[in-house]
Amino acid sequence: MTASAPWPARRGFSRGGIAAVLRARKRMALVEAGHRCVIPTCRHPTTEIAHIVPESQSHDDSFENLIALCPKCQKKEIDAQSIRMYKRNLEILNSRYSDFERRVFDQIAETDRRSFIVEAGLEIPLLHAVNDGLLKRVELAPIAIQRAEATQYTYEVTDEGLDFINRYIRGEDIS
Ligand SMILES: [Zn+2]
Repeated sequence: MTASAPWPARRGFSRGGIAAVLRARKRMALVEAGHRCVIPTCRHPTTEIAHIVPESQSHDDSFENLIALCPKCQKKEIDAQSIRMYKRNLEILNSRYSDFERRVFDQIAETDRRSFIVEAGLEIPLLHAVNDGLLKRVELAPIAIQRAEATQYTYEVTDEGLDFINRYIRGEDIS
């Protein structure tokens, strides 16, 4: 700062600063969507971002108006209300569940598997889904517990969990 600098100092970002903020918001929107297109029937890996309300109309570059959308889906006519629902579902998913849980949900949706085994220690990032009744740990027989400490756990998807995952995959309200 020089002696002639106006006081109070000019607020806001420089041009380069604004570009950096926008890049950070775009990254956040990609992370929010797990770097996949948010259209439930697509879900293709993507590094592309779109504005929910077109920039030309809204001049809105806020995170709330940014969504991960693959180039193919950007060419389609998708109503803003559906896109907002997908965004809201992502917010719920990200605030409630771990990255590991989200990957488990994706696996369940993609493979139709109803049970899976995880190594001991990985039961911790599954706690939210278990507490919400979406997953259930299948308890070992008492004799196995007596013998040694479990090194693996078997989990099952509950009916409630299936319903939740199906709604998420179809782009319906999961709140
Ligand atoms: Zn797409």
